Amino acid sequence: MTQTDATEKPQTTGTATADWTARHRAAMMRSAPTPLAVLESGHGAEVWDVEGKRYLDFLAGIAVNSLGHAHPVVVGAVSRQAASLSHISNYFASMPQIELAERLKRLSGAGDEGRVYFGNSGAEAIEAAIKLARLNGGRRRIVALEGAFHGRTMGSLSLTGKAALREPFEPLLPGVDHIPTTIEALEAAIGPDVAALVVEPIKGEAGVVPVPDGFLERARELTTEHGALLIVDEIQTGAGRTGRWFGYEHYGIVPDAIAVAKGIGGGIPIGALVTFGEASDLFEFGHHGSTFGGNPLATATANAVLEELERADLVTNARVRGEQLREVILGLRSPLVAEVRGLGLLLGVGLTAPAAQRVATEALRLGLIINAANDTSIRLAPPLVIGDAEIAEFTDLFAQALEAAS
Ligand SMILES: *Cc1c(COP(=O)(O)O)cnc(C)c1O
Repeated sequence: MTQTDATEKPQTTGTATADWTARHRAAMMRSAPTPLAVLESGHGAEVWDVEGKRYLDFLAGIAVNSLGHAHPVVVGAVSRQAASLSHISNYFASMPQIELAERLKRLSGAGDEGRVYFGNSGAEAIEAAIKLARLNGGRRRIVALEGAFHGRTMGSLSLTGKAALREPFEPLLPGVDHIPTTIEALEAAIGPDVAALVVEPIKGEAGVVPVPDGFLERARELTTEHGALLIVDEIQTGAGRTGRWFGYEHYGIVPDAIAVAKGIGGGIPIGALVTFGEASDLFEFGHHGSTFGGNPLATATANAVLEELERADLVTNARVRGEQLREVILGLRSPLVAEVRGLGLLLGVGLTAPAAQRVATEALRLGLIINAANDTSIRLAPPLVIGDAEIAEFTDLFAQALEAAS
């Protein structure tokens, strides 16, 4: 270490984690939370930190690493594409971009009339959805749900239904109403002035809370009746995570648009808005764009990820393993576990006491990564590639963590 390095680095306490955490605290914007660990490498559903400690990863970068870490398909796609063409700007098209748009149209059910806009994140997919809503006949009202999470950029934050996240940044986008997630509230809110209703089929950040029975069906009826768009935020629920390609498919409805990101890239940043039917005609030339959006590197990788999900039938695996996980968690008969919510491999364990943080901390200590989405909810979102071995290890560690926390 040179002397300059030594003086620039803050005082540290010796272990690799403490050193890196101190540097993180000094260098990163204060908006970042204190890291739970400093991770160095991964393989499948395992990651290792800078001290060589191994963890079983049942969060997968918050539902992003659908194929797990360092999957050969992702490594191969990134390497091949980076060795050829990474970025070209929107003045040009590339084969992977066109192929991914076609693939998303097919997998989402948007079909021949569907169209795709590419951005680089979930929030950008939602920003595109907001613009789509604004183009719907000059209407200015957008309805979203209380407790919803749609992102943290100023537009997407306007739709996010969490006061604590919004208040420091107000005034946000005008014309956004947050309603309770009930059919009565829907019936009161959706009228001829509504441009769009934006919903997550399962509220992920809120602790994996599915919408109530009949809610999306009624939402579809009311939006159709009043000429409002039904935009489904599939950023967390998409790419096979819930045991169907997209979460909306569990409800037998057809949306006007879906926002996707997270799992479709398998760890490479990408987001997209997919429109269905007539909503595909709202954007005109010049209405939107992004420098990085739809670049060959991200789209080639997402193509490879989605192809592998199809080839290995990992959407079915998500459904089967999700059922298996639900059974083993309930089978633990822990007095701390009240219920298991969610679908496929997006599961929320509802607790009988506000102990989620304690359970997650104990789990981490034991080498299991899970997420305390709020005081009473543990969120599980493992890679879609998990099998019996990962479930057996999870069950053992989760049982110990519940025990230690109660
Ligand atoms: C993560 C998430 C977002 C925001 O995505 P970013 O890539 O973090 O911008 C939006 N909606 C839902 C449902 C999400 O889970």
